Amino acid sequence: MSWQAQVVTLYPEMFPGPLGVSLAGRAMEGGRWGLEAIQLRDFAEDRHRTVDDTPAGGGPGMVLKVDVLARAVDAARARLPGAPVLALTPRGPLLTQKRVRELAAGPGVTLLCGRFEGFDERIFEGRGVEPVSIGDYILSGGETAALVLLDACVRLLDGVMGAASSGVEESFESGLLEYPHYTRPAVWEGHAIPEVLTSGDHGKVEAWRKRKAFEDTRLWRPDLLTD
Ligand code: SAM
Repeated sequence: MSWQAQVVTLYPEMFPGPLGVSLAGRAMEGGRWGLEAIQLRDFAEDRHRTVDDTPAGGGPGMVLKVDVLARAVDAARARLPGAPVLALTPRGPLLTQKRVRELAAGPGVTLLCGRFEGFDERIFEGRGVEPVSIGDYILSGGETAALVLLDACVRLLDGVMGAASSGVEESFESGLLEYPHYTRPAVWEGHAIPEVLTSGDHGKVEAWRKRKAFEDTRLWRPDLLTD
């Protein structure tokens, strides 16, 4: 069965973008997944096709209108019932590999891309929309965040990744960062590959990798060890 993505955006021409090439692109060509980019403006009802308005309470920027968003969500749900609807927003909980796995195991996903100051907050409760952030920084729009989320999901779909095992050992799958990798040449500009990796002793290699995964997690992402 094909996994389906719908992306509600003011810039449909940004899709599939980088997801049209390499692993994801080949999987799309092969029918393993599909993507429909939906123009939010099509759900505006005035003759100017207005999708935004000034923030209640004043302040800079514009806010995406809840009535327009709701019509887009209703239409997307009717087309893809059973798929969760997520809105990309820095105000949401961080996307995790666990959530990515859940999404990839389902029928697909509908994504709402914000612009300007973001969404009228009432869309979340009013239409059961799940907020999700891809990191603690501000992008100019939700489209690049949607591409990130879709890339993470699509590579997990059955048959998309080349080697079946190369998803299991990766960073975050076991709550740690992955161990570091090396390849030939054995010595590069005076830097040698750790000796254990060329020893041929699989037990020692495995023990070294476990230790490095833990040490690097403690160094770069101590938050993962306390979660
Ligand atoms: N005013 C918002 C705030 O401070 O939380 C930022 C709005 S941002 C300029 C415009 C849009 O980009 C957001 O509505 C969202 O869709 C997207 N965006 C920006 N940063 C994001 C992030 N870290 N994760 C997911 N989406 C993001």
